[in-house]
Amino acid sequence: MTDCIFCKIVQGDIPCNKVYEDEHVLAFHDIDPKADTHLLVIPKQHIVNLMSVKGDQWDTVSKLLKTVNSIAQQEKLEGYRLITNNGEQGGQEVFHMHWHILAGTKLPGF
Ligand code: 5GP
Ligand code: ZN
Repeated sequence: MTDCIFCKIVQGDIPCNKVYEDEHVLAFHDIDPKADTHLLVIPKQHIVNLMSVKGDQWDTVSKLLKTVNSIAQQEKLEGYRLITNNGEQGGQEVFHMHWHILAGTKLPGF
């Protein structure tokens, strides 16, 4: 996707503050953090959001979720909140699937 910010980050055309990378997944700090630690974990493959996932893409989602937990351990997080916004009604602004890891000072319940 040529006009996708996160594809550009994957390709290295836009810089990011990377915390983890492998064949399928990239994780980096959110540019506008909403918590002490705010990471974004994305598949390298352009997938719009969880609502759009089909077929083999579920394998990518599964790998990504395993990686989320490894990253939390790597970053020594004592706990974290994991959010993925789906569609405009769900508050999604960047239409390349991403999972927000929020952590730090005890997060309020909701
Ligand atoms: P959404 O609202 O789509 O769930 O979240 C998009 C997130 O991407 C926001 O938290 C926003 O701060 C972050 N973001 C948008 N553009 C960039 C960027 O160029 N670099 C980084 N690191 N984060 C970005
Ligand atoms: Zn993309």
